[in-house]
Amino acid sequence: MTYRETLKNCIDELSSVGVPDPESDARLLLEEASGKDYSHLLMSFRDEIPVEVSDKLNDFVSLRKKRIPLQQIIGYTEFMGLKFYVTSDVLCPRQDTEVLVEQVLEKINGGAKVLDLCTGSGCIAISIAKLAGVSVTATDISEKALAVAEKNARENGVSVYFYKGDLYQALPSDEKYDIIVSNPPYIKTDVIETLEPEVKDFEPRIALDGTADGLSFYRRIIAGAGEHLKPNGLIFFEIGYDQGADVSVLLAGSGFSDISVIKDYGGNDRVVTATLKR
Ligand code: GLN
Repeated sequence: MTYRETLKNCIDELSSVGVPDPESDARLLLEEASGKDYSHLLMSFRDEIPVEVSDKLNDFVSLRKKRIPLQQIIGYTEFMGLKFYVTSDVLCPRQDTEVLVEQVLEKINGGAKVLDLCTGSGCIAISIAKLAGVSVTATDISEKALAVAEKNARENGVSVYFYKGDLYQALPSDEKYDIIVSNPPYIKTDVIETLEPEVKDFEPRIALDGTADGLSFYRRIIAGAGEHLKPNGLIFFEIGYDQGADVSVLLAGSGFSDISVIKDYGGNDRVVTATLKR
């Protein structure tokens, strides 16, 4: 069988079970199985596919047909132009979250100290440390997530101070930060069951579940922010498309001003930023 025929079969198999983007997934799985990028694959399209490559691809395709996320199958993804390892212990870094990092990068000053809460794969903390060259501290309650984050920091050649524990409780000192950033779990518990199988069945519940109203992490992070932010410190949250007003109200009620809600590239509200005036 040629590469071309194999790719076609792979697309058919993925679409037969309703995988959302069969063409792009098939292409990425073939790139990974063959170790060739798409332009090299195009040049080999009429060649016979080596048996090791087709065996590997078949394994990938059977996992993907079970709706295991592509990033968990190949083991990594790209975020802010950097490579991040992904396992089933972390939320897969999403493109929407790049808007959050871009907002931080726009407002950050050299020498700023940044705190990332619920770091997961570390994608936010590590991109800020790498792209702004500042000191970043990050916490997460999951030891397994922190192991992934530490590997990601190492592989990207940055040092981030990682601590395990519940939000601020994980921090070893009462040091204050210029910026707090977080993409906490924010999905309403009842909504999780309505999400795609990739998310509801294979991503860590603990990284998704924002309790009954989806807002509990915002409440707890905002409640502790006064103690951990320097005067005029900034806070940046990723939010769900319908949470802009609720999170703005919570911030206003705790002394934050200059509150703004920013959209992602899909046109949905995605980020809230605010300043703690003192
Ligand atoms: N901060 C990580 C991310 O943005 C993990 C977020 C989470 O687990 N809710 O990908």
